[in-house]
Amino acid sequence: MLGHMEGLFPQATTGLVRVAVERGLDRYPDGLTYALDEDLADVAVGERVIVPLGRGNTPTGGYVVERLSQESAPPRTKHVLRRDETAPDLPADLLSLADWIATYYLAPLGLTIANMLPSAVRKGTGSTTLRLVSRASDPPGEGKRPTAKQKQVLDTLDELPASQRPVERRSLADMAGLGTCGPIDRLVAAGVLVETRQTAIEAAWHSAAPVDSRMPTPTPAQQTVIDAIAAERDAGFSTHLLRGVTGSGKTEVYLRLIDQTLQAGQIALMLVPEIALTPQTGGRLTGRFPDRRIAVLHSGLTDAQRNQQWARVARDDVDIVLGARSAVLAPIRHERLGLVVVDEEHDQSYKQDSTPRYHGRDTAIRLAQMSNCPAVLGSATPSIESWCNATERGVYRLHELQDRAPGLTVPRIRLLDMAQERRRQLPGQSMLIGPTLDHALQETLQSDGQALLLLNRRGFASYVACRNQKCGWMLCCDQCDVTMVMHRHRELPRGGLLRCHHCLSECRVPKSCAACGGPVAALGQGTQRIEEVLAARFPELRPGETLQRIDSDTMRRVDDLHEVLAAFGAGRIRVLLGTQMIAKGLDYPGVRLVGVIDADTAIHLPDFRASERTYQLVAQVCGRCGRGGDAGTALIQTYNPDAPAIRLAAERQYRAFADAELVDRSACGLPPARRMARIVIQDHDRARCTALAATMRERLEAFRTEAVEIRGPTECVIARIAQRFRRQIELFAPSARALHQVLAEARAAGLLDTADRTTIDMDPMSLM
Ligand code: ADP
Ligand code: ZN
Ligand code: ZN
Repeated sequence: MLGHMEGLFPQATTGLVRVAVERGLDRYPDGLTYALDEDLADVAVGERVIVPLGRGNTPTGGYVVERLSQESAPPRTKHVLRRDETAPDLPADLLSLADWIATYYLAPLGLTIANMLPSAVRKGTGSTTLRLVSRASDPPGEGKRPTAKQKQVLDTLDELPASQRPVERRSLADMAGLGTCGPIDRLVAAGVLVETRQTAIEAAWHSAAPVDSRMPTPTPAQQTVIDAIAAERDAGFSTHLLRGVTGSGKTEVYLRLIDQTLQAGQIALMLVPEIALTPQTGGRLTGRFPDRRIAVLHSGLTDAQRNQQWARVARDDVDIVLGARSAVLAPIRHERLGLVVVDEEHDQSYKQDSTPRYHGRDTAIRLAQMSNCPAVLGSATPSIESWCNATERGVYRLHELQDRAPGLTVPRIRLLDMAQERRRQLPGQSMLIGPTLDHALQETLQSDGQALLLLNRRGFASYVACRNQKCGWMLCCDQCDVTMVMHRHRELPRGGLLRCHHCLSECRVPKSCAACGGPVAALGQGTQRIEEVLAARFPELRPGETLQRIDSDTMRRVDDLHEVLAAFGAGRIRVLLGTQMIAKGLDYPGVRLVGVIDADTAIHLPDFRASERTYQLVAQVCGRCGRGGDAGTALIQTYNPDAPAIRLAAERQYRAFADAELVDRSACGLPPARRMARIVIQDHDRARCTALAATMRERLEAFRTEAVEIRGPTECVIARIAQRFRRQIELFAPSARALHQVLAEARAAGLLDTADRTTIDMDPMSLM
């Protein structure tokens, strides 16, 4: 009844608000103005409301981002329909971060806010509290003698391996053969045992990686870094780049700084590239801070878990927030935040590849600035951007750890020139694993060591082509301008299927060449093929048992990966073979050999960061060995032993590499010498795509300032994806501000409709 009357007799308007709606309305990137009826007079900034949108007045969700000061509504102003009580309020601090992201990355504000919030924050769903018990560190000296049942509990507990303590209360009762937890509870009450509580999510770390509660004394080098960063805490905001070779104890530095932050009663935020891939980091945090409240945000969480973690942070019921990129969007109150850490700051996964295309690292720095606290970026192989900021520009403070932590040894790194290796190949041997790597693997297996093998290419073969080179036919995706990748499935005709890694369409392996009818071959190696080669060559390597492949095809769930890593840690898996997933953060002392099957996978990519990526991948994976007593060896197979990226990675000469790379970038006017933005125009019709891009370029010209260079339009490296043709325009300028000036004006003029055919990418990381 009321709803019906609203339209007929509108109530008095009591104010105006700006609402950021969740659709990608780029004409009004900052939101739309709505009037408030009397019964909504107290609607505040940060509340979610339902507003009518468009000609059909479709009820649409959005957040109130501002209360406007003027009272009278302009004619034809629409009214807010109602509050949306089901959604959480947007905290003011989060709104200001959203504002920055939307402005800097030229994303609609409503979409940016929607991206920050978990799907629906329902309170408490998905949480189970685990009660864990362990021996008290300071038990009462004189107490009552334990009863027989209590003694059973204590004996059972003492027999457990250290990695399984503390143990869940209920399972301890079971193991001790007791029907109830009563004896345990009485031991807790008597102070003989201590109980800690954990949410199920925190507990997941324990199963993934045994809690690592070691607390080494920092080396003088580590202490210097800790002190230098701590000294700036009082000064408020500062940015630090910690460059330390892999295994130099960067994580230990973070842990000490986090500890200081917690002691000061503040919150620490730590970002890691893809937390699902680095369970050990979680294990070390929970191990070091067992009594602290740690919220974990990553892609492996269920919706309910994510909501629960989000709500905890919003309630301020947290000491440490740990997570991948999106954790920077957690609702932490700025005044509570005391430290931001971005581990592996060079990692590409920090850049989101859909709107809002924000960079987690750069957003983290901005967040630290808003919160007036230090930001610490760490890496063994910093991005050239950060390196430039820390050296040439001097806007970050540079700290270095030159040596590996005590107990770790420097791996021997050897480059293997594949042209020479092939000459020494024995008949019948696979050409994928040369004689040197083959021999080293054999030795490692014989001496009970473990090996990591890297090949940054999934599937069995990278393409299927005509055997007749003169014909030149290759099987390409119908929808995209790329070759399709062969994946092994023995039960299928011709042993597999072909899949496009861009649109995911699949087809059968063809019998013959589509152009000349001749025979075809599956060429180019992927991890699946290496797996076959290894299994055929080494009888002790059984796929799925002692040999395990890790890539996004086999590791579909976080738990799959955690299981495999646990088995590798326990020594059941002898060889881990994988894509770049295995180059990240693994810390296993049993690894004696690291083999890079093909260091050249990225080096010829048409991307100005190809060298940088190659350097990072090689250096990172080499850092995975030498973590036990043994030095360990890294063998790198390449056809380009003289390429600086590969040679310098093998020589561990980061500075030489980065400085030379910086010179090259400057000479070409590429980032970080200049800032870059990229516009991609897509359309199903090739001619229309070309015309749209040309028009865009012409109209952009009207907004262009002296400082800005516009290149293109040109075809994108992948000229078609999922049936849409793609062209790009690139903008370069000495500063981000100069780019924003042009782009913001162009957008206000309706030139860049992000919702539809155009995407803008500020500071792009991927140029495909
Ligand atoms: P990074 O993060 O630089 O790769 P980590 O912090 O993971 O290095 O340290 C590598 C290993 O060395 C870890 O097992 C860690 O426990 C150990 N470690 C770090 N600092 C010290 C230290 N000061 N003394 C002894 N061991 C250390
Ligand atoms: Zn495709
Ligand atoms: Zn052919």
